[in-house]
Amino acid sequence: MTAINPIFASSGTSIFEAMSRLATDTGAINLGQGFPEGFEPQELIEAAVIALRTGSHQYPPMMGLPALRQAVADNARRFLGLSVDWEREVLVTSGATEALADTFLALLQPDDEVILIEPVYDAYATLIRRAGGRVVPVRLAPPDWAIDTERLRAAITDRTRLIVVNTPMNPIGKIFTPEERQLIADIAIEQDLVIVADEVYEHLVFDDRPFHSFFALPSIRDRVVRIGSAGKSFSLTGWKVGYVTAESHLLQPIARAHQYVTFTTPPALQSAVAVGLNLPDAYFLNLRKALAGRRDVLVSGLRQAGFNVADVPATYFAVADISPLDRKADDLAFARHLTLSSGVTPVPVSSFYGARDVTSHIRFCFAKSESTLKEAVERLARWRAGEALEVAS
Ligand code: PMP
Ligand code: GLN
Repeated sequence: MTAINPIFASSGTSIFEAMSRLATDTGAINLGQGFPEGFEPQELIEAAVIALRTGSHQYPPMMGLPALRQAVADNARRFLGLSVDWEREVLVTSGATEALADTFLALLQPDDEVILIEPVYDAYATLIRRAGGRVVPVRLAPPDWAIDTERLRAAITDRTRLIVVNTPMNPIGKIFTPEERQLIADIAIEQDLVIVADEVYEHLVFDDRPFHSFFALPSIRDRVVRIGSAGKSFSLTGWKVGYVTAESHLLQPIARAHQYVTFTTPPALQSAVAVGLNLPDAYFLNLRKALAGRRDVLVSGLRQAGFNVADVPATYFAVADISPLDRKADDLAFARHLTLSSGVTPVPVSSFYGARDVTSHIRFCFAKSESTLKEAVERLARWRAGEALEVAS
């Protein structure tokens, strides 16, 4: 058929969906797709119920409810020291994914180049291409996943318009160092680029490590589009409430794209997320502490099962090096094999690379109940001890 755009026609089912399906079909514990279990704050659920019973069910303002836009600015001031004008600099979207789509649609022209630092969340590249842009990957590699200055500089051409950074970074849990942040800022200024800073994991940072937003650097404030998500900060991935913070010369065109893509986001959920962002510090600290505890359970279980696992400073993902266990280091085959033979499902990290050229790692999500993680660790221990699993299929 000619009426199908080849970008979507060729893109297939996402690895998250595919691995979740495999987990369901085989009764495996699903640590693949990134979604939390048991962390949803009751305050937000109650606030949503009240808003549904007593609030409006009609289109809210296109930019988002004022209460939520104020809460986005206040939360950023409280935790990151940012000074944000909520009326001019904050837009509410239907999840961070819509925020990314709006940003690419609004800022790119045909054949503009966009630097993506891989490994990277799968939606970016497809959305960039569909918006007319060309993806230029800069690959980070294990074991240190550091940014290679030369490689980054070599990737920039006079067609480069955007550089997309995700910090803290899915899937590897990396927080960009101050030096890396400064390097990207310097390049953006030299080359007149916009930085799209996907900071959806801003609150999931462990062991008192600092996290600094790209938006906090005064020299690049006018060229940063900062993206957040209630899905991550409040463990409500199904709600799809996101937000964009940017100076108005960037926010205005992004808001235009939002106006024609979704126009608005469910008002009851916006009210509830405003309540969430205004929760006391204790909520955010307890979330970090609880997740750090779950991380420790999973990481020590993975190490006992024979994987090499680096420290996890942030996000709710741990990446495990499979090379000690799989000589071929074929992460896609190994992820399927592990699901079938141990009853625990990861996702292959190669899916976060356009060329699938780093195949030595798999990713596990640890934002799960303690009992789920303990069961997963026991299954991995039995698998390690050579006990084959009776699988359903
Ligand atoms: N960016 C990154 C790095 C993510 O991991 C995700 C979610 N998996 C998103 C954006 C999308 O967030 P949302 O669900 O709010 O669209
Ligand atoms: N980005 C999420 C993850 O990394 C998944 C989102 C999705 O399934 N589309 O697991």
